Amino acid sequence: MRSDERPLIPFIKPNFPSGSSIASDFEEITDANWYTNFGPKEQQFCSAIEGYLGQDLCVTTMGNGTLALLAAVQLTFGHGSGTEYLLMPSFTFSATAQCAIWGGYRPWFIDIHSDTLQASADAARHVVEKNRDRIAGIVLPNAFGTGNPRIAEWEELAAEWDLKIVIDSAAGFGSRYPQGQLLGGRGHCEIFSFHATKPFAIGEGGAVVSRDAEFIQRAQEFQNFGFDATRESTQLGINAKLSEISAAIGLRQLKDFDERLTSRRTTFERYRSELSALGCGFQANAEASSLCFATICLDSADAREAVSRGLAENRVQAREYYNPPLHRHALFNGDNAQRADLSNTESVCSRVVSLPIHDFMNADDIDRVVYAVTDALSTL
Ligand SMILES: *Cc1c(COP(=O)(O)O)cnc(C)c1O
Repeated sequence: MRSDERPLIPFIKPNFPSGSSIASDFEEITDANWYTNFGPKEQQFCSAIEGYLGQDLCVTTMGNGTLALLAAVQLTFGHGSGTEYLLMPSFTFSATAQCAIWGGYRPWFIDIHSDTLQASADAARHVVEKNRDRIAGIVLPNAFGTGNPRIAEWEELAAEWDLKIVIDSAAGFGSRYPQGQLLGGRGHCEIFSFHATKPFAIGEGGAVVSRDAEFIQRAQEFQNFGFDATRESTQLGINAKLSEISAAIGLRQLKDFDERLTSRRTTFERYRSELSALGCGFQANAEASSLCFATICLDSADAREAVSRGLAENRVQAREYYNPPLHRHALFNGDNAQRADLSNTESVCSRVVSLPIHDFMNADDIDRVVYAVTDALSTL
Protein backbone atom coordinates (compact mmCIF):
# COMPACT_ATOMS: atom_id res chain seq x y z
CA MET A 1 0.00 0.00 0.00
CA ARG A 2 1.31 3.49 -0.80
CA SER A 3 1.92 5.39 2.35
CA ASP A 4 -0.55 8.15 1.47
CA GLU A 5 -3.45 5.67 1.22
CA ARG A 6 -3.22 4.66 4.85
CA PRO A 7 -5.69 6.30 7.22
CA LEU A 8 -4.37 9.31 9.10
CA ILE A 9 -3.45 8.63 12.73
CA PRO A 10 -4.88 11.71 14.45
CA PHE A 11 -2.87 13.54 17.10
CA ILE A 12 -5.84 13.55 19.45
CA LYS A 13 -9.05 11.57 19.21
CA PRO A 14 -11.66 12.49 21.81
CA ASN A 15 -13.51 9.59 23.44
CA PHE A 16 -17.02 10.51 24.56
CA PRO A 17 -19.98 8.56 25.96
CA SER A 18 -22.56 7.42 23.40
CA GLY A 19 -25.55 9.53 22.48
CA SER A 20 -27.94 6.97 23.94
CA SER A 21 -26.28 7.03 27.37
CA ILE A 22 -26.31 10.82 27.40
CA ALA A 23 -29.97 10.84 26.32
CA SER A 24 -31.05 9.48 29.71
CA ASP A 25 -28.96 12.14 31.48
CA PHE A 26 -30.54 14.83 29.37
CA GLU A 27 -33.98 13.51 30.26
CA GLU A 28 -33.12 13.73 33.96
CA ILE A 29 -31.94 17.29 33.43
CA THR A 30 -35.11 18.34 31.57
CA ASP A 31 -37.25 16.55 34.21
CA ALA A 32 -35.50 18.59 36.90
CA ASN A 33 -35.69 21.61 34.54
CA TRP A 34 -32.35 22.77 35.98
CA TYR A 35 -29.61 23.43 33.37
CA THR A 36 -26.84 25.31 35.15
CA ASN A 37 -26.10 27.28 38.38
CA PHE A 38 -24.80 24.43 40.57
CA GLY A 39 -27.57 21.94 39.72
CA PRO A 40 -27.72 18.31 40.86
CA LYS A 41 -25.38 16.99 38.12
CA GLU A 42 -22.78 19.65 38.84
CA GLN A 43 -22.94 18.94 42.57
CA GLN A 44 -22.53 15.19 41.96
CA PHE A 45 -19.66 15.81 39.54
CA CYS A 46 -17.93 18.05 42.08
CA SER A 47 -18.19 15.34 44.78
CA ALA A 48 -17.04 12.70 42.31
CA ILE A 49 -13.89 14.72 41.52
CA GLU A 50 -13.25 15.21 45.24
CA GLY A 51 -13.64 11.45 45.72
CA TYR A 52 -11.31 10.68 42.83
CA LEU A 53 -8.57 13.07 43.99
CA GLY A 54 -8.86 12.20 47.70
CA GLN A 55 -6.28 13.96 49.93
CA ASP A 56 -9.11 15.95 51.62
CA LEU A 57 -9.14 18.37 48.70
CA CYS A 58 -11.94 20.84 47.97
CA VAL A 59 -13.10 21.29 44.38
CA THR A 60 -15.20 23.72 42.41
CA THR A 61 -15.95 23.10 38.74
CA MET A 62 -15.51 25.86 36.15
CA GLY A 63 -16.73 26.59 32.63
CA ASN A 64 -13.25 25.85 31.24
CA GLY A 65 -9.60 25.67 32.29
CA THR A 66 -8.81 29.25 31.31
CA LEU A 67 -11.54 30.60 33.59
CA ALA A 68 -10.31 28.27 36.35
CA LEU A 69 -6.84 29.79 35.92
CA LEU A 70 -8.27 33.30 35.92
CA ALA A 71 -10.15 32.59 39.16
CA ALA A 72 -7.03 31.04 40.70
CA VAL A 73 -4.82 34.02 39.79
CA GLN A 74 -7.33 36.59 41.01
CA LEU A 75 -8.12 34.84 44.29
CA THR A 76 -4.54 33.81 45.12
CA PHE A 77 -2.72 37.05 44.31
CA GLY A 78 -5.58 39.59 44.37
CA HIS A 79 -6.37 41.69 41.30
CA GLY A 80 -3.17 43.37 40.12
CA SER A 81 -2.68 46.99 39.09
CA GLY A 82 -0.82 46.15 35.87
CA THR A 83 2.67 46.81 37.22
CA GLU A 84 3.65 43.59 39.01
CA TYR A 85 4.75 40.30 37.51
CA LEU A 86 3.94 36.63 37.81
CA LEU A 87 6.83 34.24 37.24
CA MET A 88 6.13 31.50 34.71
CA PRO A 89 7.91 29.62 31.93
CA SER A 90 7.65 30.77 28.33
CA PHE A 91 7.37 27.08 27.43
CA THR A 92 3.64 26.70 28.13
CA PHE A 93 0.22 27.22 26.56
CA SER A 94 -0.90 30.79 25.86
CA ALA A 95 -3.71 30.67 28.46
CA THR A 96 -1.17 30.55 31.31
CA ALA A 97 0.18 34.00 30.41
CA GLN A 98 -3.15 35.39 29.14
CA CYS A 99 -4.58 34.85 32.64
CA ALA A 100 -1.77 36.85 34.22
CA ILE A 101 -2.76 39.83 32.08
CA TRP A 102 -6.51 39.36 32.69
CA GLY A 103 -5.68 39.29 36.42
CA GLY A 104 -3.86 42.63 36.25
CA TYR A 105 -0.31 41.24 36.08
CA ARG A 106 2.36 40.63 33.46
CA PRO A 107 4.27 37.43 32.81
CA TRP A 108 7.97 37.26 33.68
CA PHE A 109 9.22 34.37 31.61
CA ILE A 110 11.87 32.07 33.04
CA ASP A 111 13.74 29.13 31.57
CA ILE A 112 13.03 25.39 31.80
CA HIS A 113 15.10 22.29 32.51
CA SER A 114 15.90 20.45 29.27
CA ASP A 115 15.27 17.01 30.81
CA THR A 116 11.92 17.61 32.52
CA LEU A 117 10.70 20.45 30.26
CA GLN A 118 9.47 22.00 33.52
CA ALA A 119 10.17 25.54 34.76
CA SER A 120 13.48 25.87 36.60
CA ALA A 121 13.32 26.96 40.26
CA ASP A 122 16.96 28.10 39.98
CA ALA A 123 16.00 30.40 37.11
CA ALA A 124 13.16 31.77 39.24
CA ARG A 125 15.49 32.31 42.20
CA HIS A 126 17.80 34.32 39.97
CA VAL A 127 14.96 36.74 39.11
CA VAL A 128 13.46 36.88 42.62
CA GLU A 129 16.79 37.65 44.33
CA LYS A 130 17.11 40.92 42.41
CA ASN A 131 13.43 41.80 41.89
CA ARG A 132 11.40 40.51 44.85
CA ASP A 133 9.34 43.71 45.11
CA ARG A 134 8.21 43.45 41.49
CA ILE A 135 7.05 39.82 41.73
CA ALA A 136 3.51 39.11 42.97
CA GLY A 137 3.55 35.33 42.63
CA ILE A 138 4.27 32.21 40.62
CA VAL A 139 2.15 30.43 38.02
CA LEU A 140 3.73 27.04 37.62
CA PRO A 141 2.50 24.75 34.86
CA ASN A 142 2.92 21.01 35.15
CA ALA A 143 4.27 20.84 31.58
CA PHE A 144 2.03 18.69 29.34
CA GLY A 145 0.13 17.65 32.46
CA THR A 146 3.18 15.78 33.81
CA GLY A 147 3.75 16.17 37.55
CA ASN A 148 6.89 18.24 38.12
CA PRO A 149 9.51 15.96 39.74
CA ARG A 150 11.02 19.03 41.44
CA ILE A 151 7.79 20.43 42.88
CA ALA A 152 9.29 20.43 46.40
CA GLU A 153 12.08 22.79 45.24
CA TRP A 154 9.42 25.22 44.05
CA GLU A 155 7.53 25.03 47.33
CA GLU A 156 10.77 25.72 49.23
CA LEU A 157 11.52 28.74 47.06
CA ALA A 158 7.97 30.03 47.51
CA ALA A 159 8.13 29.64 51.29
CA GLU A 160 11.55 31.29 51.47
CA TRP A 161 10.39 34.35 49.49
CA ASP A 162 6.82 34.45 50.82
CA LEU A 163 5.31 33.87 47.37
CA LYS A 164 2.28 31.77 46.50
CA ILE A 165 2.09 29.25 43.67
CA VAL A 166 -0.86 28.66 41.36
CA ILE A 167 -0.28 25.36 39.57
CA ASP A 168 -1.60 25.08 36.02
CA SER A 169 -2.25 21.33 35.74
CA ALA A 170 -4.63 21.83 32.82
CA ALA A 171 -3.89 18.58 30.98
CA GLY A 172 -2.92 16.69 34.12
CA PHE A 173 -6.13 15.37 35.65
CA GLY A 174 -5.21 11.79 36.67
CA SER A 175 -1.45 12.45 36.54
CA ARG A 176 0.76 11.77 39.55
CA TYR A 177 3.74 13.45 41.18
CA PRO A 178 6.79 11.17 41.51
CA GLN A 179 5.83 9.92 45.00
CA GLY A 180 2.47 8.77 43.65
CA GLN A 181 0.31 11.66 44.81
CA LEU A 182 -2.36 12.68 42.29
CA LEU A 183 -2.02 16.22 40.91
CA GLY A 184 -4.34 18.67 42.66
CA GLY A 185 -2.87 18.91 46.15
CA ARG A 186 0.24 21.06 45.76
CA GLY A 187 0.91 24.82 45.73
CA HIS A 188 -1.80 27.22 46.90
CA CYS A 189 -4.22 25.67 44.41
CA GLU A 190 -4.17 23.67 41.18
CA ILE A 191 -6.41 24.02 38.15
CA PHE A 192 -7.54 21.45 35.60
CA SER A 193 -9.04 21.70 32.12
CA PHE A 194 -11.63 19.22 30.89
CA HIS A 195 -11.46 20.49 27.29
CA ALA A 196 -12.39 18.02 24.54
CA THR A 197 -8.68 17.57 23.68
CA LYS A 198 -7.47 16.73 27.20
CA PRO A 199 -7.20 13.14 28.49
CA PHE A 200 -10.14 13.75 30.84
CA ALA A 201 -12.55 15.50 28.48
CA ILE A 202 -16.12 16.75 28.79
CA GLY A 203 -16.14 19.37 25.98
CA GLU A 204 -15.62 22.67 27.79
CA GLY A 205 -15.00 22.50 31.52
CA GLY A 206 -12.44 22.80 34.27
CA ALA A 207 -11.90 22.87 38.02
CA VAL A 208 -10.05 24.69 40.79
CA VAL A 209 -8.71 22.45 43.56
CA SER A 210 -7.30 23.44 46.96
CA ARG A 211 -6.97 22.25 50.52
CA ASP A 212 -8.51 25.57 51.61
CA ALA A 213 -12.32 25.25 51.75
CA GLU A 214 -12.81 28.99 52.14
CA PHE A 215 -10.71 29.64 49.01
CA ILE A 216 -12.87 27.21 47.04
CA GLN A 217 -16.00 28.93 48.39
CA ARG A 218 -14.68 32.23 47.02
CA ALA A 219 -13.86 30.55 43.68
CA GLN A 220 -17.48 29.41 43.54
CA GLU A 221 -18.66 32.97 44.15
CA PHE A 222 -16.16 34.29 41.57
CA GLN A 223 -17.72 32.14 38.84
CA ASN A 224 -21.20 33.48 39.68
CA PHE A 225 -20.65 37.25 39.28
CA GLY A 226 -18.93 37.55 42.66
CA PHE A 227 -22.28 36.98 44.43
CA ASP A 228 -22.19 36.00 48.10
CA ALA A 229 -25.00 34.00 49.77
CA THR A 230 -27.28 37.05 49.69
CA ARG A 231 -26.64 37.67 45.95
CA GLU A 232 -24.63 40.79 46.69
CA SER A 233 -21.53 41.15 44.49
CA THR A 234 -18.75 41.30 47.06
CA GLN A 235 -15.81 40.62 44.73
CA LEU A 236 -14.89 40.99 41.08
CA GLY A 237 -16.41 37.96 39.40
CA ILE A 238 -17.49 36.57 36.07
CA ASN A 239 -19.80 33.92 34.68
CA ALA A 240 -17.77 30.71 34.62
CA LYS A 241 -20.32 28.09 35.67
CA LEU A 242 -20.43 24.56 34.32
CA SER A 243 -23.67 23.50 32.64
CA GLU A 244 -25.57 20.40 33.82
CA ILE A 245 -25.11 18.44 30.60
CA SER A 246 -21.33 18.94 30.76
CA ALA A 247 -21.31 17.75 34.38
CA ALA A 248 -23.34 14.67 33.37
CA ILE A 249 -20.76 13.85 30.68
CA GLY A 250 -18.04 14.27 33.31
CA LEU A 251 -19.73 11.78 35.65
CA ARG A 252 -19.76 9.19 32.86
CA GLN A 253 -16.18 9.93 31.81
CA LEU A 254 -14.90 9.40 35.33
CA LYS A 255 -16.21 5.81 35.48
CA ASP A 256 -13.68 4.17 33.14
CA PHE A 257 -11.03 6.89 33.27
CA ASP A 258 -8.41 4.77 35.06
CA GLU A 259 -8.72 1.98 32.45
CA ARG A 260 -8.15 4.50 29.69
CA LEU A 261 -5.09 5.82 31.49
CA THR A 262 -3.69 2.29 31.61
CA SER A 263 -4.08 1.96 27.85
CA ARG A 264 -2.48 5.36 27.21
CA ARG A 265 0.43 4.45 29.47
CA THR A 266 0.93 1.20 27.55
CA THR A 267 1.25 3.21 24.31
CA PHE A 268 3.75 5.52 25.99
CA GLU A 269 5.86 2.60 27.27
CA ARG A 270 6.06 1.19 23.72
CA TYR A 271 7.27 4.55 22.37
CA ARG A 272 9.80 4.91 25.16
CA SER A 273 11.20 1.38 24.93
CA GLU A 274 11.55 1.55 21.13
CA LEU A 275 12.77 5.12 20.72
CA SER A 276 14.90 6.03 23.76
CA ALA A 277 18.03 4.36 22.38
CA LEU A 278 17.69 6.35 19.12
CA GLY A 279 18.27 9.71 20.79
CA CYS A 280 14.65 10.55 21.67
CA GLY A 281 14.53 12.08 25.14
CA PHE A 282 11.27 11.51 27.05
CA GLN A 283 9.98 13.90 29.69
CA ALA A 284 10.80 12.68 33.21
CA ASN A 285 7.75 11.29 35.08
CA ALA A 286 5.59 11.31 31.91
CA GLU A 287 4.93 7.60 32.51
CA ALA A 288 2.88 8.59 35.57
CA SER A 289 0.93 11.27 33.70
CA SER A 290 -2.40 11.09 31.85
CA LEU A 291 -0.45 11.47 28.60
CA CYS A 292 -2.37 13.97 26.51
CA PHE A 293 0.39 13.01 24.03
CA ALA A 294 4.04 11.88 24.21
CA THR A 295 6.61 14.63 23.84
CA ILE A 296 10.08 13.68 22.66
CA CYS A 297 13.12 15.93 22.52
CA LEU A 298 15.60 15.13 19.74
CA ASP A 299 19.37 15.76 19.76
CA SER A 300 19.27 18.48 17.11
CA ALA A 301 16.95 20.71 15.09
CA ASP A 302 17.85 18.65 12.01
CA ALA A 303 16.69 15.46 13.72
CA ARG A 304 13.42 17.15 14.67
CA GLU A 305 12.88 18.30 11.11
CA ALA A 306 13.50 14.78 9.80
CA VAL A 307 11.15 13.24 12.38
CA SER A 308 8.38 15.78 11.73
CA ARG A 309 8.71 15.16 7.98
CA GLY A 310 8.79 11.38 8.46
CA LEU A 311 5.66 11.44 10.60
CA ALA A 312 3.79 13.52 8.02
CA GLU A 313 4.90 11.21 5.19
CA ASN A 314 3.58 8.25 7.15
CA ARG A 315 0.28 10.02 7.76
CA VAL A 316 0.87 10.40 11.49
CA GLN A 317 -0.37 13.71 12.85
CA ALA A 318 2.12 15.29 15.27
CA ARG A 319 2.65 18.72 16.84
CA GLU A 320 5.65 20.79 17.89
CA TYR A 321 4.38 21.92 21.31
CA TYR A 322 5.17 24.59 22.56
CA ASN A 323 6.90 26.02 19.54
CA PRO A 324 6.96 29.01 19.26
CA PRO A 325 7.36 29.67 23.00
CA LEU A 326 5.22 32.48 24.43
CA HIS A 327 7.94 35.15 24.46
CA ARG A 328 7.88 34.97 20.66
CA HIS A 329 4.10 35.53 20.42
CA ALA A 330 3.14 39.10 19.41
CA LEU A 331 1.16 39.66 22.62
CA PHE A 332 4.07 38.81 24.89
CA ASN A 333 7.17 39.99 23.05
CA GLY A 334 6.88 43.68 23.97
CA ASP A 335 6.04 45.68 27.10
CA ASN A 336 3.50 43.10 28.27
CA ALA A 337 6.21 40.78 29.58
CA GLN A 338 9.72 40.49 30.99
CA ARG A 339 12.03 37.64 30.19
CA ALA A 340 15.04 36.06 31.84
CA ASP A 341 17.62 34.01 29.96
CA LEU A 342 15.61 31.50 27.90
CA SER A 343 18.36 29.53 26.19
CA ASN A 344 17.07 26.08 27.23
CA THR A 345 13.60 27.08 26.09
CA GLU A 346 14.91 28.18 22.69
CA SER A 347 16.96 25.02 22.31
CA VAL A 348 14.15 22.67 23.36
CA CYS A 349 11.68 24.43 21.05
CA SER A 350 13.91 23.66 18.07
CA ARG A 351 14.15 19.96 19.00
CA VAL A 352 10.76 18.99 20.39
CA VAL A 353 7.97 16.99 18.78
CA SER A 354 4.83 15.48 20.32
CA LEU A 355 3.61 12.05 19.21
CA PRO A 356 -0.06 11.06 19.24
CA ILE A 357 -1.58 9.14 22.12
CA HIS A 358 -5.30 8.50 22.26
CA ASP A 359 -7.71 5.90 23.62
CA PHE A 360 -8.29 4.23 20.24
CA MET A 361 -4.70 3.48 19.24
CA ASN A 362 -4.10 -0.16 18.36
CA ALA A 363 -0.81 -2.07 18.03
CA ASP A 364 -0.61 -1.29 14.27
CA ASP A 365 -0.98 2.43 14.88
CA ILE A 366 1.76 2.35 17.49
CA ASP A 367 4.00 0.38 15.09
CA ARG A 368 3.44 3.00 12.41
CA VAL A 369 4.45 5.85 14.72
CA VAL A 370 7.54 3.95 15.90
CA TYR A 371 8.47 3.07 12.31
CA ALA A 372 8.07 6.68 11.12
CA VAL A 373 10.40 8.02 13.83
CA THR A 374 12.92 5.17 13.51
CA ASP A 375 13.05 5.44 9.73
CA ALA A 376 13.46 9.24 9.82
CA LEU A 377 16.36 9.02 12.29
CA SER A 378 18.10 6.25 10.33
CA THR A 379 18.40 8.53 7.26
CA LEU A 380 20.31 11.24 9.15
C1 LIG B 1 -5.53 23.42 27.83
C2 LIG B 1 -4.72 24.32 28.67
C3 LIG B 1 -5.29 25.46 29.26
C4 LIG B 1 -6.67 25.96 28.92
O1 LIG B 1 -7.74 25.13 29.25
P1 LIG B 1 -9.13 25.37 28.50
O2 LIG B 1 -10.06 24.42 29.19
O3 LIG B 1 -8.94 25.02 27.05
O4 LIG B 1 -9.54 26.77 28.69
C5 LIG B 1 -4.51 26.22 30.13
N1 LIG B 1 -3.24 25.89 30.38
C6 LIG B 1 -2.64 24.82 29.82
C7 LIG B 1 -1.21 24.50 30.16
C8 LIG B 1 -3.36 24.01 28.93
O5 LIG B 1 -2.76 22.95 28.38
